[in-house]
Amino acid sequence: MEAFDVAIVGGGPAGSSCAAFCAGAGLRTLVLEREQFPREKVCGDCLNPECWPVLRRLGIAERVRELPHGILDTVEFIAIGGRKIVVDLPSGEESEIAIKRSLFDALLLSRARELGVDVCEATTVTALTNSHGWRIETAGGKSFVARALVGADGRNSTVARLCNLLPRLSRERVALQAHIPLPADFGNRVVLQFLPEGYSGQAPVNREELNLCLVSKPSNMPALRRWAEKQFSLQRNHQWRTITPLTRAALAPARGKLFLVGDAARVVEPFTGEGIYYALRSGELAAQALVKIIQGNDAGDPVTEYAEAHAAMYRGRLWVNQLSRAAVLAPRFASLFVQLARVQPSILRLLTAKIVRSN
Ligand SMILES: Cc1cc2nc3c(=O)[nH]c(=O)nc-3n(C[C@H](O)[C@H](O)[C@H](O)COP(=O)(O)OP(=O)(O)OC[C@H]3O[C@@H](n4cnc5c(N)ncnc54)[C@H](O)[C@@H]3O)c2cc1C
Repeated sequence: MEAFDVAIVGGGPAGSSCAAFCAGAGLRTLVLEREQFPREKVCGDCLNPECWPVLRRLGIAERVRELPHGILDTVEFIAIGGRKIVVDLPSGEESEIAIKRSLFDALLLSRARELGVDVCEATTVTALTNSHGWRIETAGGKSFVARALVGADGRNSTVARLCNLLPRLSRERVALQAHIPLPADFGNRVVLQFLPEGYSGQAPVNREELNLCLVSKPSNMPALRRWAEKQFSLQRNHQWRTITPLTRAALAPARGKLFLVGDAARVVEPFTGEGIYYALRSGELAAQALVKIIQGNDAGDPVTEYAEAHAAMYRGRLWVNQLSRAAVLAPRFASLFVQLARVQPSILRLLTAKIVRSN
């Protein structure tokens, strides 16, 4: 059986980023991914400008820009009843864009492959044993061994579940997502629209398609869906992708030779559109620690260093996350906030700048 230095479960942004940085530093790296790429994923498809430096270090910033994408110049907040406020987003080369996850994630995974990562797609991890290294079993009956294991398998992490770490999941809210025909004159904007039943996020991902997300309590979703069907002239049998939970308790991102990255470690409120950045960056930080561990350079305790760098990445931002969560759980309150911001727009400008930190 081939032995790897690092086995990574999940080939989304967190797993591909971690894998690429590990392989780039010379580690024998394996990625096990349940799906066959390209695949879509429930996501608003918006790339926070903070992603660009990580994408540059991965050597793919230019290739991302060459993929079909939507340019986002403004964010438009729409209150219940239709009152709007528009806030400018950073402009220039490293601005916020929207890009389909089928394209973005496939590029990241192929970059990992280029750097020497062994990638097994359509391979679901089903069992783990940890004794003198990790043994990983998959649904197809194949098994692998590795010195260190990374859970990069998203909010419902199998790795965390198999290691008895996954907290009880709350189904307080659910999200639906679809790519629909781009309405004429939609413009270069991302829309965050509050409705009595929940909220909707809308962003153009290319010249023909709009990413449409709906988020609400499960009981309100049928009504929200009817709103979307009417608003965007969709058929009643329109195909939506779905995901839950929207949030859950964070987990310690490292213990021994087990690392968690991206959503597997911490899920943030989707409303803020920052999850991909955290996934890419935590993948990079975990790789730095893994390189030290595998190469025997344990000076300074890489596990603690990763845990601290991981915490620092979120520091000063979690209150925005809490505020967003409160807003989406109480859309009437959020609407009132948007109306207040029409009188005092600096509040929303400040919040937007906090989330969309341009480099
Ligand atoms: C409604 C909604 C809108 C969002 N909008 C945005 C946005 O606009 N911008 C933004 O930055 N973030 C957004 N997010 C968050 C973003 O989607 C996530 O933070 C991001 O995908 C996390 O990346 P990841 O690599 O950690 O996990 P994922 O992207 O979830 O990747 C995990 C991978 O693991 C694989 N996997 C799972 N289980 C197994 C297994 N047992 N074996 C093998 N493979 C497995 C999966 O197939 C998947 O490919 C949104 C989220 C939601 C729910």
